[in-house]
Amino acid sequence: MSRFWSAVTHTLTPYIPGEQPKLDNLVKLNTNESPYPPSPRVTEAFHENIPNQLQLYPDPNSSALTQAIADYHGVSSDNVFVGNGSDEVLAHTFHALLKHELPILFPDITYSFYPVYCRLYQIAHTAIPLTETFQIRVNDYIRPNGGIIFPNPNAPTGCPVALSDIERLLQANPDSVVVIDEAYVDFGAESAVQLINRYPQLLVVHTFSKSRGLAGLRVGYAVGDSELIAGLTRVKDSFNSYPLGKLAQIGATAAIQDRDYFEETCTHIKQTRERLIADLTGLGFIVLPSAANFVFASHPQHDGAELTAKLRERSIIVRHFRNPARIAPFMRITIGTDEQCHTLITALTDILQSNN
Ligand SMILES: *Cc1c(COP(=O)(O)O)cnc(C)c1O
Repeated sequence: MSRFWSAVTHTLTPYIPGEQPKLDNLVKLNTNESPYPPSPRVTEAFHENIPNQLQLYPDPNSSALTQAIADYHGVSSDNVFVGNGSDEVLAHTFHALLKHELPILFPDITYSFYPVYCRLYQIAHTAIPLTETFQIRVNDYIRPNGGIIFPNPNAPTGCPVALSDIERLLQANPDSVVVIDEAYVDFGAESAVQLINRYPQLLVVHTFSKSRGLAGLRVGYAVGDSELIAGLTRVKDSFNSYPLGKLAQIGATAAIQDRDYFEETCTHIKQTRERLIADLTGLGFIVLPSAANFVFASHPQHDGAELTAKLRERSIIVRHFRNPARIAPFMRITIGTDEQCHTLITALTDILQSNN
């Protein structure tokens, strides 16, 4: 606390990112990064371009990257907005498109950055409870609102929402922006990008941090109607005209152009996930149906915090959320390599046996 802080600074409750411990030999399954490096084309592109005129500012519009993203999705470059990680894209979205008279709606159990942005930009929100089985029920969002946002698949549950349900929501909600945060969509959910030409209120947000193995580069983007994109650009150009450095633009462009590598790694992660779910279920865990690169699992006889602590003693880091109480029994486990998942299962087998 300082008397020099502005009034809003006093009211903030900052997001707490999952830890990035500096230890070697850690099985790091806590922040949903890819266990695989990015496409080799990314490093090739860096080698070819690194020394190139770093004394000059980067392209403020990231034009080549924006076009590559537009090509990937089969949309126009006017439909694409890029930012320094999708967290920044989301921040601008809250500021530019979700700040209105009425409270915005998002699930009570979801990406915990959303309430943080609400505080920062002073946006009222209503948390809509997930169902008993931890699902988003779109009918619960059909009510007056200043905007709607949820991840698909949801985090930290991993549960997907059907595209037909999203379309039903869009039809029932034509007058405020609906943001679908598709950070994990490449691991098994249906993308809403194909709907943007029919629903001018739809904004779909993607990241290079999960399915493209580039969390360290910080690149995310939004796809939507050109007027939504123009609103985001106005806020961006009132905040930071150069959010993406030259390296980020070069690396992300190379990554999105390598479809084969992308599909190969996503397929591998999905296969590992199905094996991990089977193994966890075999140990007595209850695992929510996941369409993401993580699973949300609880054990009827063991506390989530206690299991997380015991795994940590064995240098395996998973994520545990104390709040809300409803999810305290769960651990959120990122899908690692096959070897990392095997190490996890061996450790859990050992922990469960020594406890009984
Ligand atoms: C990881 C994540 C993001 C943030 O991604 P960055 O591009 O790394 O900022 C956004 N939304 C959800 C739901 C996420 O899990």
